Amino acid sequence: MTRIAIIGAGITGLACAKTLSDAGFQPVLFDKGRGIGGRVATRRTDNHRFDHGAPYIDTNNDNFSHVLRGLIDTGNADIWDDGTGRSLIVGTPGMSSIPKGLAAGLDVRLGTQIKALRPNGQEWRLFYDDVHYDATHVVMTIPAPQIKGLLGDNHSLVKRVSDVQMSPDLTLMVAISGNPSNVIPIPEGFPLVSITQECRKPLRPQANTSAWIAHANINFTQAHLEGDLPNIASKMLPFLCDHLNISNDCVTHSVAHRWLYSRVSKPLGENFIRTPDKKLYLGGDWCIGPEVEDAWSSGTAIATDLIEQGL
Ligand SMILES: Cc1cc2nc3c(=O)[nH]c(=O)nc-3n(C[C@H](O)[C@H](O)[C@H](O)COP(=O)(O)OP(=O)(O)OC[C@H]3O[C@@H](n4cnc5c(N)ncnc54)[C@H](O)[C@@H]3O)c2cc1C
Repeated sequence: MTRIAIIGAGITGLACAKTLSDAGFQPVLFDKGRGIGGRVATRRTDNHRFDHGAPYIDTNNDNFSHVLRGLIDTGNADIWDDGTGRSLIVGTPGMSSIPKGLAAGLDVRLGTQIKALRPNGQEWRLFYDDVHYDATHVVMTIPAPQIKGLLGDNHSLVKRVSDVQMSPDLTLMVAISGNPSNVIPIPEGFPLVSITQECRKPLRPQANTSAWIAHANINFTQAHLEGDLPNIASKMLPFLCDHLNISNDCVTHSVAHRWLYSRVSKPLGENFIRTPDKKLYLGGDWCIGPEVEDAWSSGTAIATDLIEQGL
């Protein structure tokens, strides 16, 4: 009997699982996180939601657009113009509603970190906690630099992904009393590269504080990547206050998040790779490019290849 295990319930893993499920398979997804979605993520506080990973989806992929339209119909997503005239897709009430919607009906095992993966006869054995899961086929969708931790340095597929590069990112989530509106363009060389006002997205809570997300530029990120998160927040915050022209006293909440692997800067250049026996697949946004739609394309391409095996 075919047992397909998918490591990672981000967009790549969900795209793969959903396509397989639509074709009659029953894949099992394992994710170490507490929530579904990987880098499509939302952090909640009492008053606010912060999309601290991908802030929106912008796609021309017909298949993905069709699926996203379905999520708009179910209330998991909506169309948003960020002021640039684009029709972006955002999750409602947060970006994590998109992966949650994609996961409907799928077998997703959260809080399950796969620690090792070993051949077991014609199958693969996945180890987590004190137990294991035997799969006929395995799809790994974790960031490329983490793959060798599961497969070992000498696996042939690990060598093929060794040139892939992913950039880190430091993200600041801030709540501010009032709603500063005189936001000006960010000057060249400023330590923050993007500043977005979360409350402008559809169905976001309207409180007497406003929610903001800022991302550090690469120089700031590299200089502070190893720091502890409260210290990173305290270093990024003055730049945000300066840019919004507000005093530090207006800040009611300030938390930093570190993404060790945020967006791919040097992709693989193929939708996925696999072993010659077609039993182990590696995929992710890092195969093609830095966007959510690239993750979707990789995941669906893997599923199509598995389905074409006629399992
Ligand atoms: C700050 C930031 C800003 C971004 N901005 C944009 C943007 O503007 N537009 C855009 O389109 N994209 C953006 N992206 C990129 C987008 O989020 C990614 O391209 C996409 O979400 C990648 O999906 P994925 O499934 O390939 O990987 P991931 O989302 O990383 O999923 C991998 C999953 O594997 C799990 N995992 C890892 N190791 C294990 C293990 N050993 N066992 C079990 N589970 C494991 C992780 O928990 C994770 O859930 C941004 C990302 C970040 C972080």
